[in-house]
Amino acid sequence: MGKRVLVALGGNAIKQPDEKGTFEEQMKNVETASKQIVQLVRHGYELVITHGNGPQVGNLSIQQEAAADQVPPQPLVVLGAMTQGQIGYMMQQTLHNILDGDGKQVATIVTQVLVSPEDPDFKDPTKPVGPFYTEEVAKKLSAERGWVVKKVRPTSEKTWRRVVPSPTPLGIAEAKAIRTMVEAGMIVIASGGGGIPVYRNKSGKLEGVDAVIDKDRAGAKLAEEVGSDVLLILTDVEYAMMDYGKPTQAPIRKLTVAEAKKRLSEGHFGAGSMGPKVEAALGFVERGGERAIITSLAKAVDALEGKTGTHIVHA
Ligand code: ADP
Ligand code: MG
Repeated sequence: MGKRVLVALGGNAIKQPDEKGTFEEQMKNVETASKQIVQLVRHGYELVITHGNGPQVGNLSIQQEAAADQVPPQPLVVLGAMTQGQIGYMMQQTLHNILDGDGKQVATIVTQVLVSPEDPDFKDPTKPVGPFYTEEVAKKLSAERGWVVKKVRPTSEKTWRRVVPSPTPLGIAEAKAIRTMVEAGMIVIASGGGGIPVYRNKSGKLEGVDAVIDKDRAGAKLAEEVGSDVLLILTDVEYAMMDYGKPTQAPIRKLTVAEAKKRLSEGHFGAGSMGPKVEAALGFVERGGERAIITSLAKAVDALEGKTGTHIVHA
């Protein structure tokens, strides 16, 4: 049997930076990504797929606020669930159509990811979400809905935004369901957008909380809980680089756990971009994963065959 691979798709698999995000644009990107994923299926890998949702959830929150006088806005945690369904639909259909005749089932699982209410990020939320507001509107929304709002850009009329915590993912509520489906030969799409953040309340019941979990960190947790051999992080660059953006920039082909820790602490990787990927890769390997790879979508197969990409390994 082929190796089990958790594929974490970056934002570019759904929306390119210069696009508006029309349905047609997103479907075209998802088709390109699906063609690569089907290559992995044809090479015999068992797949669980996760993906980002930044632009989609951002647009959905703008819609909530723009129509707030007609329809009650839904909480951020629900928007997370909505975008899992939205993106899951696009992927399920394109994969189904490309795989036509293989008899392989593709299914999306609405996934809840456990976080701790004691996570330090709840005390000082930093992740901006949704529309920009004037100070007056931001403070009104904060009072009405208990949002934390911050001034996030110095000039222009609307400079305020809601900020939410980005807590550490501790567990995947639906891990067993996902694992059972992969073991039955299905392709599963799960933990989209980093998953729906939930915590255990005082009665021990799950309850949603407005936060955003980094999709690569949640992907690493999911990879661990579904018994993946490999965590494959597909983004828009073929390698994590040393001295990124400097004349001395150079691709990193192999990083041991010890080297990854050292380079992370020295700040070699962009915060909020390559940093969380290297951190997620390191965490997966440290907790017993065989290998984590960071590469571009187009190089997925080559990277799994060891021909390219940044490979994070024990030693
Ligand atoms: P994704 O949507 O796939 O999560 P991100 O934009 O979050 O993509 O992260 C990928 C980006 O990280 C690259 O396009 C690059 O601009 C940036 N980056 C920051 N530091 C590095 C580095 N050391 N090596 C390579 N890319 C880096
Ligand atoms: Mg990212």
